[in-house]
Amino acid sequence: MTCTNFEKLVSDYLFCRLSPAQLTLFYEHLSGCADCRDFLERYRRVVSLLREERHTT
Ligand SMILES: [Zn+2]
Repeated sequence: MTCTNFEKLVSDYLFCRLSPAQLTLFYEHLSGCADCRDFLERYRRVVSLLREERHTT
């Protein structure tokens, strides 16, 4: 998997929409790529902020 493919899958990952096969590839790339680990953490933070906003409104 390339970093570009990884980034396309991150939102699906956070919303639990990846198939088991996709998850395997996702984790394989994640374990070998520090850039994508950073990307995932930033993305996760944004998503949790959005979820909190939805709670308060
Ligand atoms: Zn990567």
